[in-house]
Amino acid sequence: MSAKPRIGIYGLTSCAGDQLTLLNCEDELLAILDAVDLRSFVMAHSANPEGELDVAFVEGAVTQQSDLDLLTDVRSRAGLVIAIGTCAVWGGLPYLAGKGTAISQHIQVDFSIPGCPIEKSQLLNALSALLHGDLPLELPYPVCLECTIRENNCLLQRGEICCGSLTAGGCGARCPSHGVACMGCRGSALDPNYQSAQQILAKYGYTPEDILQRLALFSGEGFSKEGERVG
Ligand code: SF4
Ligand code: SF4
Ligand code: SF4
Repeated sequence: MSAKPRIGIYGLTSCAGDQLTLLNCEDELLAILDAVDLRSFVMAHSANPEGELDVAFVEGAVTQQSDLDLLTDVRSRAGLVIAIGTCAVWGGLPYLAGKGTAISQHIQVDFSIPGCPIEKSQLLNALSALLHGDLPLELPYPVCLECTIRENNCLLQRGEICCGSLTAGGCGARCPSHGVACMGCRGSALDPNYQSAQQILAKYGYTPEDILQRLALFSGEGFSKEGERVG
């Protein structure tokens, strides 16, 4: 990497929520801008010299040829490509609309930060690791662990179909902490125990199809029909 890492931030088909997360890092933004050579961030400024990049952050799913063209161009210029947001990582809501695909289906992705939108803390941790020349670490635990740490009453006991055990942690169990069952917006956990989740949910009358259908809202094809993580 050059002295100041050359960074580019790009959006494919998306709502721009993940790019906004970066812009909303108000307390840290000046330090970030001082530490990197920002080569492209169309949403934030008009002078974008582009060229070779050390790291490209890409938000959004691929839904059209212009997305694919931009993605291919970015991949050819970037040392590392980081997918930001569930649309980029798993297809997300554009997948649900029937035509969005995760960027890893088109190019090699070096690291993924899921979330709809991504969590500020995870983005800052990733930037910090990259500035030190390291790749960030994928969080190894599911939402259920964070939910347990917060001492929430489990919504499964209320008969709700909560996908926290299969979903990547990092949001601090935001929804169950407000009494709302997890819909899996962060995509698959690293090593989801689908069999166990299926057995528990079966007690409340839910079928494997019910679980996979709920997870597919954000994960797209992130789970096989046997419940294994794909991608
Ligand atoms: S993951 Fe969520 S916040 Fe990010 S682009 Fe997709 S819909 Fe928007
Ligand atoms: S409420 Fe959901 S996230 Fe919390 S422990 Fe139960 S299944 Fe896991
Ligand atoms: S849907 Fe699940 S993963 Fe997404 S914010 Fe809510 S609890 Fe977290």
